Amino acid sequence: MVNSRFRAVEEAFAKEAVVAEPPAPATSDYYGCNVFNRKNMRKYLSSEIRQKVYESIEKGVTLERDVAEQVAVGMKRWAQDMGATHYTHWFQPLTGGTAEKHDSFADPYGKGESIEVFSGKILCQQESDASSFPNGGLRNTFEARGYTAWDPSSPAFVMGDRLCIPTVFISYTREALDYKTPLLKSEVAIADAVTDVLKYFGIENDRVFSYLGWEQEYFLVDSSLYAERPDLIMAERTLIGHSSARNQQLEDHYFGSIPARVLEFMKDLEFECYKLGIPVKTRHNEVAPNQFEIAPVYEQANIAIDHNLLLMSLMRTVADKHGFRVLLHEKPFAGVNGSGKHCNWSIGTESGIGLLSPGKTDLENLRFLTFMANVLKAVYDNNALLKASILTASNAHRLGANEAPPAIISSFLGTQVTEAFNELLSSRDMVKLKGKVGYSLGIPQIPGLFMDNTDRNRTSPFAFTGNRFELRAVGSSANCSSAVCVLNTITAYQLKRYKENVDRRVANGTPVMKALLDETRETYRACQKICFDGNGYSEEWKAEAAKRGLDCETSPPLAYDVLASPRTIEVYKDTGVMTEVELKARSEIDWEIYSKKIEIEARVLADLTANHILPVATRYQSVLLDNVSKMKEIFDGEEYSVVAAGEIQIIKDIAMHISKARNLADGMEADVDEICEIEEERAKAIAFHDRVVPYMEKVRVHVDALEMIVDDQMWPLPKYRELLFIR
Ligand code: ADP
Ligand code: MG
Repeated sequence: MVNSRFRAVEEAFAKEAVVAEPPAPATSDYYGCNVFNRKNMRKYLSSEIRQKVYESIEKGVTLERDVAEQVAVGMKRWAQDMGATHYTHWFQPLTGGTAEKHDSFADPYGKGESIEVFSGKILCQQESDASSFPNGGLRNTFEARGYTAWDPSSPAFVMGDRLCIPTVFISYTREALDYKTPLLKSEVAIADAVTDVLKYFGIENDRVFSYLGWEQEYFLVDSSLYAERPDLIMAERTLIGHSSARNQQLEDHYFGSIPARVLEFMKDLEFECYKLGIPVKTRHNEVAPNQFEIAPVYEQANIAIDHNLLLMSLMRTVADKHGFRVLLHEKPFAGVNGSGKHCNWSIGTESGIGLLSPGKTDLENLRFLTFMANVLKAVYDNNALLKASILTASNAHRLGANEAPPAIISSFLGTQVTEAFNELLSSRDMVKLKGKVGYSLGIPQIPGLFMDNTDRNRTSPFAFTGNRFELRAVGSSANCSSAVCVLNTITAYQLKRYKENVDRRVANGTPVMKALLDETRETYRACQKICFDGNGYSEEWKAEAAKRGLDCETSPPLAYDVLASPRTIEVYKDTGVMTEVELKARSEIDWEIYSKKIEIEARVLADLTANHILPVATRYQSVLLDNVSKMKEIFDGEEYSVVAAGEIQIIKDIAMHISKARNLADGMEADVDEICEIEEERAKAIAFHDRVVPYMEKVRVHVDALEMIVDDQMWPLPKYRELLFIR
């Protein structure tokens, strides 16, 4: 009796166990499982070797060969246990994205036998014949060797069947061929410069880092529709396409509910991110239909950038599984908001002091204003350089298009910080407080609530947002290293000048606190022109900015001139981030990439026009012609001219658009062919910008007009209304 009752209970449990969904694993169970992090190192490396690795990560101490050898053994065992069969040095070439060359752990030898190899030497350095990567003349063809070298500060990870080792990529003559090398150097430069200034404020032995929290915007389109758009496939943006009747007028997409199919993609993406230790936190719809954003919690800049690049490749693979294509281009659709990658940047110490956060005491607030003033001065002096670091052929579509900051760098501070600076400007010497040790610095207390209280200004390219600056001008497809490296480098350079000046004042007998106060005041006074809290989208601002002497160049090829200007060379040389040779190579590469992008777009557009659009338009025209001539058989003279008039006009319109589109496309192709013959990269890029870009806009006008006329059934490409609304 008893037994049978128990049996019934057992059966009920068994039934439930089948019915109940297994609980979803907690994120903490799998977070970072694909990363060779401390937890995994504990299982595969001895404590002695681990200590050496930690030292290398934390203090930048170079790992000795025999230690690297042991790390390689542990790393390989871990990777194989994770199912990896190959390894790759993972690096960031100047073409954008990341590059990998896969080698198998298996090393076949002799007759049908194989051993598995992965040594310290392989881990630390690889030679790669990388002559197909842009190098701006740094590698002569007879010396085409490049090297990838391990960056232990960014952990190795397993992706798919391969162990990926983050590396820098340099030439045989040690010049940087990637984004990571100068970034790492800029981190050293800013850490050193900040550490020196922090000593005045009594802070020592606290490591300094630059931090980055990016916000990645992107579009999703259905894979099957994408496959029918050669322009999306080849140029990553629609080169033609009439706007749909409804796009973002209703502004109902922003923070609206996320479509179910997209949500599944996002969940899957987050799962993959967590496995790789990418701390993604926020997801939401963006302004445009089919536009979304994903953002992590901020990290040390180098790690944050590696994570952003990893995310971008993960997005592509995960989207594929869900029948989507992810578009990271800054402007995939005309007339609809483009995508950016806001870069939230700050500097701080290991113990948690945010140097761009206001404090509670006078001294902390002087420290805050000091770092703020130096960042502002750095950005003021190098506003053209900062802009050049974010200006690309694709991002140029977005800047200044009433959706993103204009192609002019300025900074928004908000009322409270502006007031604090104004107080500083009008303050006189320090006053010794009666009976108390200490000084009143004449700086108003900045309320604690301040952080959440900064007024927002969405139109500012470099906005202070309470404890960081948000650089909003970066493009969605960019490797944001390029901008972050500039911010680190120019700030480091400026802080070195600040320290020299303070030291000079002190040497002349000024008390340290007064020297700091005076120098901070002068630093801010010298760069006030960079501050602008008004509407950055307005025409008045463009005029005002020009008056203030801010760089207003909108042509990317001309903007790149600043990369090798005497000032930039001095800043990079002084901070040890890049040499003149490297800077010159970089401007060459920027021109080269710009030209290639425009050339591809122009050729795809010419091809689409000639082979896809015009034949269809002609076919529709003949349908109408046929109809009109048949009408003649039914209707007599006067009646005919009434009923056929509309169609005859359409036939004429089609004929006009066809002939104009053809002539323009032909003219454009002829120009492209001619420009391709230009040898000098700068002149070539300028010609592409000045001659080809305007052509592309004109061709589009006629093709888009034809889209509105030609029978929808005949139109050969998916239209905006199909591409932009996921069902
Ligand atoms: P928004 O309101 O601009 O959309 P989000 O909350 O989406 O802001 O993103 C803000 C980003 O800024 C996040 O990645 C966040 O971690 C990052 N962030 C916050 N504080 C700092 C800081 N001190 N330094 C750098 N990044 C920061
Ligand atoms: Mg933001």
